[in-house]
Amino acid sequence: MNLTKKLEKAINQQITAEFWSSRLYTAMSFYCEKDGLDGFAHWLRKQAEEENEHAYKMASYLIKRGGTVVLGKAEDTPSTWKDLADVFKAVYAHECKVSKMIDQLVTLAEAEKDKATELFFWDFVREQIEEEETAGAIAERIAKFGKTHLYELNQQMMNR
Ligand code: MG
Repeated sequence: MNLTKKLEKAINQQITAEFWSSRLYTAMSFYCEKDGLDGFAHWLRKQAEEENEHAYKMASYLIKRGGTVVLGKAEDTPSTWKDLADVFKAVYAHECKVSKMIDQLVTLAEAEKDKATELFFWDFVREQIEEEETAGAIAERIAKFGKTHLYELNQQMMNR
């Protein structure tokens, strides 16, 4: 059974959004690198790679279900932030936004009575719990210890 046109369009929008997330985290990584925060730059680069993988995974699924991948326009990303705390507040906010988008895809799959697509995106619903938790925890650590222990925090981020 092929995907409905509605679902095909929505998944394509999500693929475009995942690539944009990757671009956003890449831009943040460069911001941190310029600021000498190589650990945070490393973490964000890994995060960017993960978003690319999400896009590829969704694209493969779309193709498997008879769809055609249509990449949307690559919108500009911001290139600067107020400071490191601001970067990770933005990461957390972005992950919360992505969670909502994924939830909407599950809701649409339900409405289209497409169980396989529902199941496929439930994995991402679960994944978003981790994404929000991790980003939130880093933002909190920066808020609490960013002024006194920035060096150590930066080193820790290298472990990803
Ligand atoms: Mg993602």
